[in-house]
Amino acid sequence: MSLRPLPALQDNYIWLLADAAGRAMVVDPGEAAPVLAAAGDLDLVAILLTHHHPDHIAGTAALLERWPHAQVFAPRDERIPGPCRRVADRERVEIGPWAFEAIAVPGHTRSHVAYFGEGLLFCGDTLFSLGCGRLFEGSPAQMHASLAKLAVLPADTRVCCGHEYTEANARFALAVEPGNRELQEHADAVRELRANDHPSLPGTLEIERACNPFLRVDAPGIRASLERHLGRGMRDSVEAFAELRAWKDGFKG
Ligand SMILES: [Zn+2]
Repeated sequence: MSLRPLPALQDNYIWLLADAAGRAMVVDPGEAAPVLAAAGDLDLVAILLTHHHPDHIAGTAALLERWPHAQVFAPRDERIPGPCRRVADRERVEIGPWAFEAIAVPGHTRSHVAYFGEGLLFCGDTLFSLGCGRLFEGSPAQMHASLAKLAVLPADTRVCCGHEYTEANARFALAVEPGNRELQEHADAVRELRANDHPSLPGTLEIERACNPFLRVDAPGIRASLERHLGRGMRDSVEAFAELRAWKDGFKG
């Protein structure tokens, strides 16, 4: 099994998974060209879509022209054109040799789903390395709950995000939790990878749990930073998450 992030558009990744027999699937093809260029003789059997934003779905039609038998999986959302199989929360998705579970993760959009299986998590614009998606259609409580569903997956899960935002996210994470040693080390490793034009992804969920401030809103160091930033305390985790997200939205690192 081989897994590759194909850079697309500005800073998107289209994830390409292939097996030894030449069967392949892609996640979130925001454009077709990188997939057509990378596919070679691969037989694309499935296209998984996490949410309706064009930079995640716009290449789908062109891929179906080349591989008309490929099956498309997508959340229930009329803004994603058919034909496709609509997935519900906790629905099992079988694709050739692979099996995934769809997980509803509203917040970035109301119908966003993630796909977990084969030790991989395709999380679109919900969980980023060292960050999380912006709240376009959901509440902080929804996004906080969605991230909590992903955070409990196995520690060695490889996290396949929709964008290469890690370096900028690291600057914010370090501003929020400067004393986090694992974060300092991981941020150094990310800078090195990016300086050599390598993807920072996929990392592991273990790293995210140790370093991503949006999965750590109850950590004492983060609460202390938030209290300094706001000049007051917070009622609960959801409020801390909301304030952290708002801080990031205005952060110029
Ligand atoms: Zn999006």
